[in-house]
Amino acid sequence: MAFKAEYIWIDGTRPTAKLRSKTKIMQDGAEPPVWGFDGSSTGQAEGHASDRVLKPVFTCPDPIRGGADVLVLCEVLDIDMTPHESNTRAELAEVAARFAGQEPVFGIEQEYTFFKGSRPLGFPEGGFPAAQGGYYCGVGADEIFGRDVVEAHLDNCLRAGLGVSGINAEVMPGQWEFQVGPLAPLEAADHLWVARWLLYRTAEDFGVSATLDPKPVKGDWNGAGAHTNFSTRAMREAYGPIITACEALGEGSKPMDHVKQYGAGIDERLTGLHETAPWDEYSYGVSDRGASVRIPWQVERDGKGYIEDRRPNANVDPYVVTRLIVDTCCTALEKAGQA
Ligand code: ADP
Ligand code: MN
Ligand code: MN
Ligand code: MN
Repeated sequence: MAFKAEYIWIDGTRPTAKLRSKTKIMQDGAEPPVWGFDGSSTGQAEGHASDRVLKPVFTCPDPIRGGADVLVLCEVLDIDMTPHESNTRAELAEVAARFAGQEPVFGIEQEYTFFKGSRPLGFPEGGFPAAQGGYYCGVGADEIFGRDVVEAHLDNCLRAGLGVSGINAEVMPGQWEFQVGPLAPLEAADHLWVARWLLYRTAEDFGVSATLDPKPVKGDWNGAGAHTNFSTRAMREAYGPIITACEALGEGSKPMDHVKQYGAGIDERLTGLHETAPWDEYSYGVSDRGASVRIPWQVERDGKGYIEDRRPNANVDPYVVTRLIVDTCCTALEKAGQA
């Protein structure tokens, strides 16, 4: 019996890359091989030299098709088998390998918004719903929009074997969150990209689209972020390394280096309002949801744990944010003798 492999990759339409996929019919027992695609249709090549290479890096069961069918997440390579310039995973792989001894792990909170046509789910035609306040973790048809899609997506993630750890309704109607992790950097980012693909694919069957737009409705409505929770072994064992990591993220040019790569349109979301810190001012604090980086209260109480970088936009590339945080924090921890 043949089976279907859905090859998934990240295209070259930066700064807000899209996911692409296509199907390969495989013979029983075969491993998904290296494959190719037309890079001129994805912002990854010119028409006169358009071939690009798909290198499988993470395979899991396909919960949509079921049976023996699989999803195959790929890196994009040039035809000389070196990483294409849009391939941010290859860079993360290097940095993650360099600091693997510190056992870094990530939990990423992916916020997103459902749209039906040009309006978020729950927004009436030509107007606005009741102001924010009751929607976050709400219940009931007056507060919740799209739960059937959310439940189907969660089931699909679990059937695919992805390391999702929860879901919740968010502050704006039609806005939701799922969490991936805690997992090692490459795993967390791979699982998040596949979970995003499954989100779009699941919603498609409901006639709904999902967007990672960081500020889908202008004005007094919450944006969508991707809070990135991080720890190393040392941070999970003591409080000193927690502070070292928070300080490292605020040192010199680091705040700007990070924020510039934390997703397109970051200044529209990090305004200082709606549970954000201003994009151009770094701060950290215990339990502070208005800080750039939050130390959860249990972490202060226990004297160990993890930190939450609240700055990344919903549309951040998880290969980039995990690389930046590992590089900045693990370098500082090494220097401080806390590796
Ligand atoms: P909140 O909404 O209060 O910010 P969530 O429960 O949505 O928190 O997300 C917390 C995230 O922190 C989860 O993704 C979880 O996997 C992650 N996490 C928990 N412990 C650790 C840890 N030691 N290191 C890194 N991430 C962690
Ligand atoms: Mn959360
Ligand atoms: Mn949230
Ligand atoms: Mn959070």
